[in-house]
Order: sequence, then structure tokens, then C-alpha cells
Amino acid sequence: MSSPFQYAPAPESRSIVDIAPSYGLFIDGEFVDGTGEPFKTVNPATEEVLTEISAGSAADVDRAVAAARRAFTRVWGPMRPADRGKYLFRIARILQERAREFAVLESLDNGKPIRESRDVDIPLAAAHFFYHAGWADKLDFAGLGANPRPLGVAGQVIPWNFPMLMLAWKVAPALATGNTVVLKPAETTPLTALLFAEVCRQADLPPGVVNIVTGAGETGRAVVEHGDVDKVAFTGSTEVGRSIARAVAGTRKSLTLELGGKAANIVFDDAPIDQAVEGIVQGIFFNQGHVCCAGSRLLVQENIHDEVIASLQRRIGTLRVGDPLDKNTDIGAINSHLQLERIRELADAGEAEGAHRWQPACELPDRGYWFPPTVFTDVSPAHRIAREEVFGPVLSVLTFRTPDEAVAKANNTTFGLSAGIWTEKGSRILKIANQLRAGVVWANTFNKFDPTSPFGGYKQSGYGREGGRHGLTGYLKGAAQ
Ligand code: NAD
Ligand code: MG
Repeated sequence: MSSPFQYAPAPESRSIVDIAPSYGLFIDGEFVDGTGEPFKTVNPATEEVLTEISAGSAADVDRAVAAARRAFTRVWGPMRPADRGKYLFRIARILQERAREFAVLESLDNGKPIRESRDVDIPLAAAHFFYHAGWADKLDFAGLGANPRPLGVAGQVIPWNFPMLMLAWKVAPALATGNTVVLKPAETTPLTALLFAEVCRQADLPPGVVNIVTGAGETGRAVVEHGDVDKVAFTGSTEVGRSIARAVAGTRKSLTLELGGKAANIVFDDAPIDQAVEGIVQGIFFNQGHVCCAGSRLLVQENIHDEVIASLQRRIGTLRVGDPLDKNTDIGAINSHLQLERIRELADAGEAEGAHRWQPACELPDRGYWFPPTVFTDVSPAHRIAREEVFGPVLSVLTFRTPDEAVAKANNTTFGLSAGIWTEKGSRILKIANQLRAGVVWANTFNKFDPTSPFGGYKQSGYGREGGRHGLTGYLKGAAQ
């Protein structure tokens, strides 16, 4: 890393957050102790224990579902849609007002750079509430059927990669359509969901409309398998998604699954190389690569392979890895020791199977969980790193000669969440995008998110859509997409 620039540390102060020594569950508008075995959440950048968290048992989940049912039947269901919208607007405004607090807390608990939590996660979470607040009183006119009705109680389970944003993706559409919620955040990142519980109180949201039950997989299972839950929404691994689909099969519950991905980012030889390199970097190193739609398979046209790789390596050499709270940081900490082990295992497998590993010279902090940005060249489609989701800052590079070969290789995956196309030709973008079996296709950009745009997968990436008008249908009776 021979940069002409020297950076002085620019740490964001953590004094804005106030972390209590322990937290309870948020049920029926109150914080209550869980009856499961409490657990700790750590800052993955330092391994510092941040606080102790209650674990929800099946009995706690039962109380939360009962509270959600009461709130649905007595208050939230019968409420005038325009009034529901007012609550959502209020929540959105409070999220904006407390954005810095949420961003710092998210970076502390998750390990992501403050630049991203401040500029992406939290503003987008607020935007989801604003967007859905606007829908609350317009559902009758949205082409969703004559008389769209809420399903009832939604049981929602979310992952650790975008804790607050995934909460917004789940809670905002559920509330806007008149449902009530029991949400289980991921065990390594529960803190912003608990701060959100405080926001619900600040917004005077009626008790029971939102319930937050912390815990690990068993708590999640109790939520999705509860007999009085009408709708299950899950984001996480394909493996757990599969087990949830089995558990829900044969019940009356409606289900949406947002699972893994192995997106192809396709670079044609007429693409503007510098922009494409920025897009490749953004595609795989954003959020340490803990992104289900990450551009983890780079498909580059053979005749520009060497030029693209050289340019990419130069650019990666300038990325700053380290303290998530430093405003200069590009790549933060890996979320957990377990995830770090998974990344190491797959990277080792890449080398063992014959791909070539490249990493920039980069100093990693002594404590915490870290993995340097990594590029594998000479990857064949059969390698594990070309087929399995690494969910880390690891890029696999493959080549192609013709557009048909690019499409065939891009679709040669069990997943189908997203894809990227880099070319100067608009006609080629449209033609290729139509041939890709992926829920989202970006052209000359990557990892762009907007609440108005539906997001979701094909094949093992799951089913159902979140966001946009499409996302409302998953929370309404008989609504056609
Ligand atoms: P996971 O699927 O185990 O966890 C996601 C959420 O589901 C967490 O809240 C967890 O507590 C809960 N959960 C676990 N078992 C459950 C069960 N049986 N019933 C209900 N809920 C349950 O994901 P993970 O172990 O944190 O990560 C494993 C892999 O999953 C990663 O390496 C990555 O490939 C993938 N992943 C994908 C996404 C995504 O956004 N698509 C997010 C996180 C992880
Ligand atoms: Mg944590």
C-alpha cells in the first residue's frame, strides 16, 4: 500500500450511545425479563462485551404472540389506515432524529464501518418507514384487489448483516398493511432492534403492535412455529430457510423467504473499466461482503481480464481495513468468530482446489475478527468458491468470451438473487438482463437499494418480494403480485 496520502484517525465518538448493562425482551410495550438463558453481545472489532441480552423461551414467544394478537384485534386492525400511516411517519422522523445514535450503535454491535451505517443502513431504514407510511391509506387503490386485508400477526426473523435495515424491511410493510409483529433479531446484533423498541414507545405506538424477542435459533424457531402466527418472514441462510419452509408447509401460514446468493457481476470489454472496478469493489467489499446480493462472482471478458485485475488490485490496495468507528474505514470487522471460520474454510478450499489467492499487504488489528480483502483468479465453475456463498470479502474471478457464455455461466448457480452488467451498450443490457435468472439486475452500478424497488430471489435465494408495491402483497389476504 504505497499511498501518497497519510490518514490521521477520524473516530466517531461513541458517547452518543448509552448501552445498559442488560436488556430484556420488548413485549406488549414493556421491557420484561426473558426466561431463557441470557447471552452476551460483543463488539466484533475488539471482542469487548457490550451488554447482556435476555433470551426468549417458547413461553416468552407465546406471550409476545398473544400481545400481538390482542393489539391486532383491538387496536391496530380496526384503526383508520390514515392513522396507522401517522404512526409510521412518526417512527420514520424519530429514526432520522436519532440517526447518529443508531449508526454508532450498529457499528459497535455489528462491526460495519460507520461510513456505511451512517450513510446507508440508517437513512435507508428511515426511508422504508417513510415510503410505507405513504402506502398505509392507499392500499385500496394500489391494484392489490378490491378490499385488501391484513393477515394478522407476523413472525419475523432477521440476520446480522444489516440489523436495522432488515428490521425496517420487515416491520414497515407489516405495519403499513395493518399487521402486528413479533420480531427476532440475530443473536450477534440485537442492540439496534432494542433501541427501535424504545423508538416505538417514543412514538406512542400502541402496546403489542411491535414486539421484539431476542435470542438465538431456538427462539426464532419458536416464533416461526407458533400456532397463532399468520405470516412468517425470514431472511438468512438457505439452510435455515429450508427448515422453516418444511415447518410451515401444511399450515395456513403465509411465508416469504429471503435467502443466500452468489451473484454474477459481468464485465464486457466495452465497459468503462474505471467505473466497473469501482462497481466490483462496491459489489464485493461493501459491508465486508456480508451481503446476500454481493457480486461475489466476477465474470470478466477474457480479452480484458489482465487489465481489469491489475486495476482492481491497485484499487484494493487503497482500501482501509480497521476500526469501524473511524470515518476513513472502508472495511470493518467480520461479524463473528463463527463467520470468520466459515470464510477461512472456504478461502482455504479455494486454494486447495487450485485457484490463485491474492491479498493486498494490509495490517490487521490484533484483537477482533478480521479478514483482508481477497481476490481469487483461475477459478473454475466447479470450485467451492464459485458455487458456495462465502458471505465475506472474497471475490472469485471467472472469464467468458461471448455474451451467451456469460449468461450461461452467470445462471450456472443454485441461487438467483442479483446480478450486475457492465457495458456501454444499452441494447446489450436489456437483452442480457432478460436472460439472467436473478431477482435484481443492476446495470453499470451495483448494490443500489431503494424502498420503492422490489427485492427477492429465484431458486434457492428464496421467494416473495420485499419493498415496492410487490412487497405489500406478502402481508395482505389474497393480494396478487
Ligand atoms: P442463520 O440463517 O442461521 O441466521 C439467521 C437468523 O435466523 C438469525 O436470527 C438466527 O437466530 C435465526 N435462526 C437460526 N436457526 C433458526 C431456526 N431453526 N428457526 C428460526 N430461526 C432461526 O444465518 P447465520 O448462521 O447467521 O449465517 C450462516 C450463513 O447464512 C452465512 O454464512 C451466509 O452465507 C448466510 N446468510 C445469509 C443472509 C442473507 O441476508 N441472505 C444473512 C445472514 C446469513
Ligand atoms: Mg454484536
